[in-house]
Amino acid sequence: MTKLIAFTERFVPEMVDSIEHYSGDRPIFDLYGVDDEIQKALERKVQLKSGGHLIIDQTEAMTTIDVNTGAYVGHRNLEETIFKTNLEAAQAIARQLRLRNLGGIIIIDFIDMQSDEHKRQVLRALEKCLERDPTKSHISDVSALGLVQMTRKRTRESLEHVLCDPCPTCSGRGSIKTAETVCYEIFREILREARQFDTDKLLVVASQEVIDTLMDNESATFAELEAFIEKPITLQVETLYSREHYDVVLM
Ligand SMILES: [Zn+2]
Repeated sequence: MTKLIAFTERFVPEMVDSIEHYSGDRPIFDLYGVDDEIQKALERKVQLKSGGHLIIDQTEAMTTIDVNTGAYVGHRNLEETIFKTNLEAAQAIARQLRLRNLGGIIIIDFIDMQSDEHKRQVLRALEKCLERDPTKSHISDVSALGLVQMTRKRTRESLEHVLCDPCPTCSGRGSIKTAETVCYEIFREILREARQFDTDKLLVVASQEVIDTLMDNESATFAELEAFIEKPITLQVETLYSREHYDVVLM
């Protein structure tokens, strides 16, 4: 406690009075649901009360935020529903920018609105919410397509960059090849190797899922290939391999 106060006095003196000693048994992160909040702040999708949601994507160049309505919203009050969703989104976006500590160029794609008055009010709501943010931001442009382009000062790294590494399975792409795609890659690799090197037989080592697909959905192509190269091909599962990882070994 004394160490913590000393640290805070030195680096963030205005926070000293907020420090309290917690002596409960339950982990304090559990008590206040901190882990859940952090988890939510790292997800792409942010649920809005109105039923709509935001999709937040962070790339190296910029952050894009897409506003979406919920499922079917009906026809009669469509414009009104869209307007309300956009208003709620404006508030949620200002909060998420702070929570996730997103800086740099931010492009917001609000749901298209017919009324110019509605457009003006949504933009105004966004500006008002951003005024309460201690980190400076600036709305620089509203494009003809209705995209709002803004910048927010970069302070620290974003929450995602502090807490996460790019996914080793997809290298940060966010998706991985289907088992079928990997099977076709393996077929081409087998053809290449069989043509290039003189070998008695071949061994394919891959994940369970890819081996299953080779033996099941792709079994006909596999049999044709084996007949074509006139060499037996053995399959072997390697449980440590991810879906995109495989080896074609000459035996
Ligand atoms: Zn991934």
